[in-house]
Amino acid sequence: MQTALWQRVSYPAGSRIFSEGETGEVAYLVENGSVGITQERPDGSPVLLKTVQEGEIFGEIALVDHLPRTASASAIQDTVLIAISSQFFYSKLKNADPLLGHMLALVVSRFRQGNSSTSLNATTVHLAALHDYAVTHIKASQDLSEGIERQEFSVFFQPVVHLQDRTLAGFEALLRWNRPGKGLISPGEFIGLAETTGLILPLGRWMTEEALRVLQIFNSMSCPPGKTALFMSINLSARQLLEPGELDAMIAIVQNSGIPPAQIKFEITESMMMENMDEAIRAMHRLKETGVLLAIDDFGTGYSSLSYLERMPLDNLKIDRSFVIAMRSKDSGHRIASAIAAMAHGLGMDCIAEGIEDSNDERALKALGCKYGQGYLFGKPMAFEDALSYLQNQPQGC
Ligand code: C2E
Ligand code: CA
Ligand code: CA
Repeated sequence: MQTALWQRVSYPAGSRIFSEGETGEVAYLVENGSVGITQERPDGSPVLLKTVQEGEIFGEIALVDHLPRTASASAIQDTVLIAISSQFFYSKLKNADPLLGHMLALVVSRFRQGNSSTSLNATTVHLAALHDYAVTHIKASQDLSEGIERQEFSVFFQPVVHLQDRTLAGFEALLRWNRPGKGLISPGEFIGLAETTGLILPLGRWMTEEALRVLQIFNSMSCPPGKTALFMSINLSARQLLEPGELDAMIAIVQNSGIPPAQIKFEITESMMMENMDEAIRAMHRLKETGVLLAIDDFGTGYSSLSYLERMPLDNLKIDRSFVIAMRSKDSGHRIASAIAAMAHGLGMDCIAEGIEDSNDERALKALGCKYGQGYLFGKPMAFEDALSYLQNQPQGC
């Protein structure tokens, strides 16, 4: 059994690569040489089914469904193959739209049955898992899509304060799904699905319009002279940056809102951009040209290279809640948070600490020079009416 994800393997002329009846955990790409695929006649003599040449792949069916190989493969001449392990293949499939996995399972199953009119009969654990996952995913996507059509979503607002004096600096807009019979659902349960299905695009546009409409209301409340206007932080999914045309739509929403762009802050999660970092950075620059503020969210939880960070036009770096939690009990947690804050400052960014739950957290992060703080200590995410009262109860006005 091969365990490495990719492996280059050499077979001398005449050697066996795999035999009929074996379980297939690897498919092969012929890098050079050629391979004969044979099946045994009842008398045991081999029949050559086909010859696989350089650049072709073989052994893929058993890789997908883990059923026994239906043919044998041998090197015709000295041959070099690149082995594609099942583990690698399934890790790719897990990140793809489940519908692709479902279709693949269907095709493989029909190939095995040799009958294109039969329905899917997931005969192996692997095919059954692909099938179940796809069905669950399709149902959940349908629910989400109907929820959007029925306007079951709302925006909650969580205060962000100046750590210096606890005065209100702005709000972060956070989505909630009010699902009939199921109550208020947190984004952790549906954002991932919204991203894979692309529903994040209409949802994200609606969310941005709604958050800016509320900011307009907050702006209309009288502010004492000299007081800095509040900002509204809006979470952006990488797909909103990368999907053709979507960025233009977001820029149009910002420009049509009539709100000074310096009051609008987009938060982008680093791990979500990793797949296409160069394109994401280009999109961030275009967004930044409109005058909005940009923050990197959940910083430290992804693995992006620090050189990328320097190329991003960022105003703020948000220290992830996991570091704030680690700070409570561990010296190492404190050292990491301290290093992140120092790096933000070194790169000319202001630092926002999230997940501040008590005055110890507050004190520690203030001591690190974090400009902004967010967390249950200052206020939980709240519905519009509650955010409005929160604002009205601020001693220094808006
Ligand atoms: P996030 O951007 O890191 O948002 C902060 C999350 O931490 C929020 O969870 C907030 O309610 C929670 N939080 C804030 N302070 C505290 C605290 O003191 N203690 C604890 N235990 N939690 C705190 P929420 O609202 O469930 O949002 C989860 C994530 O969903 C967000 O994480 C964000 O990544 C994503 N999300 C929310 N709204 C949107 C949206 O409109 N678009 C996109 N793309 N993502 C969104
Ligand atoms: Ca955020
Ligand atoms: Ca976070």
